[in-house]
Amino acid sequence: MDNISKKKKPQTSITGGCFCGLIKYKIEGKLRDARSCHCPDCRKAFSAQASAYALVNPDEFSWVSGKTLLTIYKSKKGEGLQFCSICGSTLTGTLDGNIHGVTLGCVNDDPDIEIGMHIYVGSKANWEIIPDGVIKYQEAPPENI
Ligand SMILES: [Zn+2]
Ligand SMILES: [Zn+2]
Repeated sequence: MDNISKKKKPQTSITGGCFCGLIKYKIEGKLRDARSCHCPDCRKAFSAQASAYALVNPDEFSWVSGKTLLTIYKSKKGEGLQFCSICGSTLTGTLDGNIHGVTLGCVNDDPDIEIGMHIYVGSKANWEIIPDGVIKYQEAPPENI
């Protein structure tokens, strides 16, 4: 909303967790490539108008608590989503069994990253209004990373 209260703090580990609080994780590193995808699949997977997702280095990610409560839904070609079996929060995306990224909604505090692009806005829901001024692509971004 506003950036006035945004202040730089020394980089410590990023933490995150689910809605009920039983599952927690930490990341000893930085998030990167934050993006929001407005395609119909992401709307369903994230139960929202779009995804809000950032990539992590799998070596820097670790579960702190509640790992046994995770359930994985394997969607397509090696991709999976891990969610809390108690409260349903989707926490992480996996690729070929490794942590690939985190859902920004489950990250605590300020992870010092902003959504850099909105993709697949050509298939957004009719009820969603995307604000002017954001970087957006009708489908995949040009380099498709
Ligand atoms: Zn939970
Ligand atoms: Zn999508």
